[in-house]
Amino acid sequence: MIEINFSQTGDPFIDAGGMVLEEYQQQFTEATLWELVEQVAGIYINSWGKKLNALFLNSKITNVSVKKNLEETMIYYRSLEHPSDIKGYCKTCGYEGDLFAAGRNLFPLSGSGKFLNFHHSFEEGSYLCGFCIVKLFFLPLGIVMLGGNVALLQINSSEVKKLWKEKTLAENWGHLATGSSKSILKSSYSNPTNALFYFARDLIMDMQEIQEQAGNQPQTLTLFHFTNFGASPDCSIYTLNQNVFQFLTKILVVGLKQEWNRFVNLHYRLSKGSKADPITGIVVKVMKDQEIEQEAGEYQNSRNTIYQSLLNGYSITRHLMQQQENDFENKRETMFPIMIAVHYGKEILQMTQEQFDTLKKLVQGIFQIYGDSQADLEKALKKIRDANTKAALRKEIVRLCEKNYQAENEQALITLKEINFHLLGNNLYWGEVKDYLLIYFYELLHEKRIQLSDSIFEEELVDSEDSDNIFGSYTAN
Ligand SMILES: [Zn+2]
Repeated sequence: MIEINFSQTGDPFIDAGGMVLEEYQQQFTEATLWELVEQVAGIYINSWGKKLNALFLNSKITNVSVKKNLEETMIYYRSLEHPSDIKGYCKTCGYEGDLFAAGRNLFPLSGSGKFLNFHHSFEEGSYLCGFCIVKLFFLPLGIVMLGGNVALLQINSSEVKKLWKEKTLAENWGHLATGSSKSILKSSYSNPTNALFYFARDLIMDMQEIQEQAGNQPQTLTLFHFTNFGASPDCSIYTLNQNVFQFLTKILVVGLKQEWNRFVNLHYRLSKGSKADPITGIVVKVMKDQEIEQEAGEYQNSRNTIYQSLLNGYSITRHLMQQQENDFENKRETMFPIMIAVHYGKEILQMTQEQFDTLKKLVQGIFQIYGDSQADLEKALKKIRDANTKAALRKEIVRLCEKNYQAENEQALITLKEINFHLLGNNLYWGEVKDYLLIYFYELLHEKRIQLSDSIFEEELVDSEDSDNIFGSYTAN
């Protein structure tokens, strides 16, 4: 067996192909490298009917003018053993020695033919070593079709990568064993943004199942959604960063998972006639007088405001607060868990414990000023809710400080340092401070079983000032 270096090169296509080849070598220890190449070439030609056009353009397998696909494929790959006229360093792995020109027939989204200017010195393709070219040949078994394009998931942590590799290959091998594998694996998802979250969810759940700590290493998932097909090659890149992955890891646990799923379900932009039940989050289709429960597959590709916001770095505190407000307004027995907002604050907004303590202390102080007086608490809540600028929110906090002083409470409601360092002068956008204050307010009202009049929720929440937003664009809808 030829010793191949499986260190990461940083090229997503070569690394994903290498991941498959490594697994093949471990599985079929007796087979030579060329026997493995022949084995997968057989799969591509016989089981998959040469349908690799989205990956390899005019290759020995996809080019219709090639009659003896298997023979010609093997002649080409075996030629990589022989000395080449090109010597130097492999463009992706840095190997020094014989190099071969790899165009779009071997290397997706690279240049060849008329696109000679894609490469340095107008070379005929990327100059790669034979090992990298062989790795690329195994790529089709490590990817999935997502809608009309191919999806490649780039994973940085080795433990999560191992899981993904085993999962994808096990599924491929399972289908091949039963003769049901007819092409590259087809995902039931077609919306790449949502798919990235479903992949992350499944990987986190699998990690928890094997009782390993997902997130031991900082984890970023990058989805390349691409096609190398004909005259219109294309690639879109979606990245789920390590903070979002860490946040999902924290909330996809027993106790929070169901509530998180309800929250997400309530934010799908569903087709006309469908809606998510506000209490259970179950998506139903309204047919005449009947409501028919929909399967996840029927709506999972619809656009989802929460997934889009998390992926694009838009704040979701407004959505979290509104969920709690709706639960409070509808007198739901179990409120939307505050821990989801806390994990969001810690993992994504990078809030400190002092910031949470200050927010909590401020709200508890308001309850101390007004006791359990429903009318006064309602007025205080309304004033925070109506604050539509940073100045208005600050003014309201100062007014509460005065009230606290008049009530002769021993402790200051909040100190200047706390306002400036933990609330309004820090990493938080003022609208997020307002959302967290309301979240704690509703939580305490619920705990104390204090109801408010319905009229308070009639006015819609609007933040008019959108400057100094840490995200650049704050989504209040
Ligand atoms: Zn190489």
